[in-house]
Amino acid sequence: MSEDCIFCQIAAKTIPKEFLFENERIMAFDDIHKDAPTHFLVVPKKHLASLAETTVADQALLGELVTTAAALAHEAGVDTTGYRVVINTRKHGGQLIPHLHLHVMGGRQMGNSHG
Ligand code: 5GP
Ligand code: ZN
Repeated sequence: MSEDCIFCQIAAKTIPKEFLFENERIMAFDDIHKDAPTHFLVVPKKHLASLAETTVADQALLGELVTTAAALAHEAGVDTTGYRVVINTRKHGGQLIPHLHLHVMGGRQMGNSHG
């Protein structure tokens, strides 16, 4: 838990949030500024500042984050048409919130560039 971290505060329920999914390790909720008709975040409750801070000890958690993203994309009804999963990492990755999270976006056509 990092006191001034917004996602830690959501995990601790200091900030109320409607979850799409929650277990002991993971939570998922809609992004506050949706970039796509479906846009939610899959977030570990444990504070990891970014993907760059993860180690081999986090492999099971990372796997669970990805499989949860896929299960929730299915529930949201975007799995047939497809969706994008993004992990912005540190400054050049465009990461704004320094607590690891996966973006899951669908419901519209995404570009195929990597720019
Ligand atoms: P990043 O650039 O760090 O990958 O993305 C952070 C994302 O978190 C942004 O898409 C932003 O809209 C979202 N976000 C920021 N603050 C909040 C919040 O308080 N609640 C929710 N649900 N999303 C947030
Ligand atoms: Zn945090």
